[in-house]
Amino acid sequence: MKHIKCPYCGLEDNESYEFDQEDGTVECVDCEKEFNVSRTIEITYSTSKIACEDDEHDYKIDCYFISKRERDYTAKGGWVNLREHDWTYYRIEICCHCDAKDIIEITKDECDFALVV
Ligand SMILES: [Zn+2]
Ligand SMILES: [Zn+2]
Repeated sequence: MKHIKCPYCGLEDNESYEFDQEDGTVECVDCEKEFNVSRTIEITYSTSKIACEDDEHDYKIDCYFISKRERDYTAKGGWVNLREHDWTYYRIEICCHCDAKDIIEITKDECDFALVV
């Protein structure tokens, strides 16, 4: 419970009790009976990255991606394979500080060069 509550009369009034130890007894301000109190404090932490301002991302290259297929809207949920000269090349960059992702379209040469090196 959040407040100290007298087990005899049910008085629940945290302000009235002075209790600053882990275990002990207090006397009810109402019925004047003494009762045991033990205090449990639970601390939980949760963390998350601080998102960058829009112009503060520090991108590094994550991977390269070649799009070799295209959605075929004539077929239901279908994909068609593209011929090689229709492939599109992308460089995917992710921010070192937050989870931001940037997908940049690049040329085939840029992609070939990057994958060879
Ligand atoms: Zn009481
Ligand atoms: Zn960022």
